[in-house]
Amino acid sequence: MNEISAPRPNNLDAFWMPFTDNKYFKANPRLLYRAEGMSYFTPEGREVLDGTAGLWCCNAGHGRREITEAIQKQAALMDFAPTFNLGHPIAFEAAARVAEMTPDGIDRVFFTNSGSESADTALKIALAYHKARRESSRVRLVGRERGYHGVGFGGITVGGIGPNRKQFGALLPYADHLPHTHLPAKNAFSRGQPEHGAELADALEAIVALHGAETIAAVMVEPVAGSTGVLVPPLGYLQRLRELCTRHGILLIFDEVITGFGRLGTNFGSERLGVTPDIITMAKGLTNAAVPMGAVATSQTVYDTIVDGVAGGIELFHGYTYSGHPLASAAAVATLELHRAEDLPGRARAIEPYWQDAIHSLKDRPNVIDTRDFGLIGGIELAPRPGKPGTRAMDIFRRCFDAGVLVRVTGDIVALSPPLIVERPHVDRLIGTLADAITAEAA
Ligand code: PMP
Repeated sequence: MNEISAPRPNNLDAFWMPFTDNKYFKANPRLLYRAEGMSYFTPEGREVLDGTAGLWCCNAGHGRREITEAIQKQAALMDFAPTFNLGHPIAFEAAARVAEMTPDGIDRVFFTNSGSESADTALKIALAYHKARRESSRVRLVGRERGYHGVGFGGITVGGIGPNRKQFGALLPYADHLPHTHLPAKNAFSRGQPEHGAELADALEAIVALHGAETIAAVMVEPVAGSTGVLVPPLGYLQRLRELCTRHGILLIFDEVITGFGRLGTNFGSERLGVTPDIITMAKGLTNAAVPMGAVATSQTVYDTIVDGVAGGIELFHGYTYSGHPLASAAAVATLELHRAEDLPGRARAIEPYWQDAIHSLKDRPNVIDTRDFGLIGGIELAPRPGKPGTRAMDIFRRCFDAGVLVRVTGDIVALSPPLIVERPHVDRLIGTLADAITAEAA
């Protein structure tokens, strides 16, 4: 193990930290300085096992030489070039690699820089698609309670997390929300996909009955909701949603920002779940998070409709200075090559039964009211402390960190998503440390 250490920064004031209690953090900073394989290291050189792949993104583990070398090589060759009416080979190669991994027929790839940009891009593509088909009345966007699609205005409008919306006024008009699929009374402690709840998809019929299908552009859902606490789709739910969307001419968008790139044991979650949407959003695992990059993959029909529907000139008035950035593209090509060479989805599949047993071994710990899993994702839900929601899980997060294990918490749910290179001893240490923290918090 490398013992490299670093001095702590002496001024933490200037960085306004995202999704963070800034006042608490700056009084009690927890810093990471270096990363390698399954581990982070603090500035003092203390190792912290990564139970969250960073933020669901470093699927191939940290500091992968193949990726860092590809970035360095590309930086020396050409740091940046625009992709507006120009191109560079590595961006086309990255898009082709993504298209090889997405489900058949979803093979046109638009590059963004994040999951949030991917969500807003996908929603705009859906609106442009209907306009190109001369169905301009289709402007309603349907999301889901407890859905997370990043923090752009499209994403928070369609997303269904109260605190992410309430601070920011009126948002976009014409949005509706399906109910979330979390049914603890019926499905608590389910292994893999829960049995009950497919009928929740039928709420789309009510929205259609109220507004008319001719007003609805798209439905956007995460195959597995991660940021709101690991909500695994009930068996048959996504199939039903697909059928209803097809019947009513509504585009189905899967936000695969966390389920893409092997997390569910297949390249994309759609493959594992047996449902093909019209549009897939992605980010995170695309570059192993070494350089920010996101993408939106669409069906050939969606692409052709927009591209052929506009007579001459620019077909889609949308894009980012950094769409297909050379360094991000180089990181993506190297990452996706690693995925193939090391069969990372296959590794995730192989360890999934062991992972599942480990997650559910926590079910009898104090205050645990649900354990859930799917692919290499785990969720442990805790009864909130009376009158102080969220504080129990946060306490457990801090105990784990201090004991050398990184977990993520959202509300009173501990969400786990280790790099796909995780091995049994890592699982044992991660779950053992978490079990001790849960027990110690209750004492
Ligand atoms: N969609 C989903 C499903 C996500 O989980 C996330 C991030 N956790 C996002 C979108 C937003 O991605 P980003 O933070 O890169 O904007």
